[in-house]
Amino acid sequence: MLNTNSIDTFDESILTQNFIYYKTQTQVKVNLYSDCIRIFKYNHKSQQADQLDKLVSFNDLVGCSIGKGVKAQDTKAYLTLYTYPKINSNKSQKRKRVVIELGLNDHKLFDDNYDVLKEWSNEISKCLSRDPENDKPFLVFVNPNSGSGKATVLFQERILPVWSEANVSFKFVQTEYANFAREKIQITNLTQYKGILIVSGDGLIFEVINGLMDRDDWQSAIHTPVGQLPGGSGNALACCVSYLAKEQYANLNLESFAMHSAFLTGKHNILPMDLMCIHLSTTNDTYSKLKNPYFLYSFLSIEWALIADVDSESEKYRFLGGLRFAVGAVKRILKLRIYPGRISFLPSGEFKLKDSRIKLLQSVQPSSSTSPSFDTCKTKLKYLKPFNEVLPQDWFTIEENFIFVLIVNLPLIAKDFNASPNSKFDDGQLLLIFIREGISKLELLKLFDDTETGVYLNNPKVEYIPVKAFRIEPLTSQGCFMVDGERVPYGPIQGEVLPSLANVIAKRIESI
Ligand code: ADP
Ligand code: MG
Repeated sequence: MLNTNSIDTFDESILTQNFIYYKTQTQVKVNLYSDCIRIFKYNHKSQQADQLDKLVSFNDLVGCSIGKGVKAQDTKAYLTLYTYPKINSNKSQKRKRVVIELGLNDHKLFDDNYDVLKEWSNEISKCLSRDPENDKPFLVFVNPNSGSGKATVLFQERILPVWSEANVSFKFVQTEYANFAREKIQITNLTQYKGILIVSGDGLIFEVINGLMDRDDWQSAIHTPVGQLPGGSGNALACCVSYLAKEQYANLNLESFAMHSAFLTGKHNILPMDLMCIHLSTTNDTYSKLKNPYFLYSFLSIEWALIADVDSESEKYRFLGGLRFAVGAVKRILKLRIYPGRISFLPSGEFKLKDSRIKLLQSVQPSSSTSPSFDTCKTKLKYLKPFNEVLPQDWFTIEENFIFVLIVNLPLIAKDFNASPNSKFDDGQLLLIFIREGISKLELLKLFDDTETGVYLNNPKVEYIPVKAFRIEPLTSQGCFMVDGERVPYGPIQGEVLPSLANVIAKRIESI
C-alpha cells in the first residue's frame, strides 16, 4: 500500500485515491483539484507517491466516463479521462486526443468500486461547470451543401466522437434549403435548448441570427448562444473562437479544425458578443419577401468594393473550400475597379488618418432624398439617422474613389484574413478599414499576402478607424455589398454596433 499521507498535509484536493494506471499497470495516487487532476507515481526510495507523473488541466479535459473492464470476472471499475492537450510539435500547438484510464480495485465487489468512481465523475463534472442532471441539449443545424459538401461527414467522423466524450447532447437538424434554419427558428421552443450549434459556413450563422431577430420574443431569443463548427468555405466565427481563446486554427485542415472546434464547443463556455444593426436603403425581390426587408443583423462584416466583389464572384468556386477567396482575389485585382463613394463614420475614440491628403468633411448633404422608416427596426438605434438626414457633428465623412472597404465586428473574416487583430467579441466597437485609389495591382497582391497575420494594417495605404457607426453611400450603380458574406440589395447602407446583444459558444482562456 502506498503511503499517501505526507504530501497531502497542505493539499487542497477535492478527492484523492489510489488507482492502477492502466497504461503502465502501476499503482498511482490521483488528486482531483478544482482546475486539474494530478497523477503521482510511487517512489520506491521515499515509499511515497510524490513524483508527479501527469498533470491533466481542465483546460484540456472535455469529459470522463466510468465503466467495467472487458473480462466478466474483473471487479475493477475504470475511470476514463478524455483529454486533448496541445502537442507542441513545430510550435503548431495542435491538440491531440489522449485518453487516460485509471482502474480501481480497492473493494471486492465491482459495484463498490463503481460507487467510488461515481463520486469522482460527479466532482469532475462540477469542476467542468456541468450539471449532468439539468443539462439541456444543443440544437444542431448541419448544412449538407455548404463549402465543398463535407459538413455531414465532418459532423459524423470528427465532431460526434469528441462530443460523445464531452457529454454534449443535441437535437440534429439537417437544413434542406436556404432559409430553412431561419424558418425553423420561428417555430422552435428555444428554452428547451442550451444553444444553437451550426455545422456550416458563416452564411448559416447569419441566417440563424436573423431568424432569432425575426421572432416576436427577439429580446430573449437573441441571447440564445450560437456557435459554429467549420463546414463551409468561410468559417470565420469558428476561427474567431479559436483565435480569441489562443487556440490553433490557421495550420489545420478542415478535418482537424472540425475536431478542434468540437473540443472547444464541448467546453460549453458562453461569452457575450456584439452584433451590428444594418439598415438598407433599398430592397429587391428576395429581400422584399422577408419580415423586415430594411433591417438586418450582422455578426461579422460589411464588405464593399474589391473585397465584396471577390466574395460575391468567388461563390462559383465554392467547391474549392477556403481557397475560393484567394482565386477570386487574384482574378479581381487583375481587373481592378474604383468605387466612387462616401463613407461617414462615428469614431469610437481618438483617431488619426495615415494620409494627410484625405479630407475629413462634416455635415455633408446626404445623397438620398428618401429613407426607409426606422419604425420597423426592432433594436433601439443610438447613433444612426435616416438616410436623407444630415449626420450629427460628431460624425465625419470621406469622399473618395475607394478600392477596398471593410467594416468588421470580429478579428477574422476568414481563416487567412485577420482583418482586425485586436477586436474582441464584446469590445463594443467596429473597425472601419479602407484603401483609396492610388495603389498598384502589385502592391494589392502583396497586401493580400499579408492578411493572414493582420500586418496588412501597417501598410501606409491601409487606413483603419475604430467606429461605433457608419454610413456608406456609393456614388455609382456598379458594385455590391456583402453582409457576413451574403449579398444584400445595392444602395446606401448604414449600421451601428449593438454591444453584447448576442452570446457565442466559445472557450474562455483558463489559467492552467
Ligand atoms: P458556405 O461557406 O459554403 O457559403 P454557408 O453556411 O455560408 O456555406 O451557406 C451558404 C448558403 O447556403 C447560406 O446562405 C444558407 O442559407 C444556404 N443553405 C443552408 N442550407 C442549405 C441547403 N440545405 N441547401 C442549399 N443551401 C443551403
Ligand atoms: Mg467589436
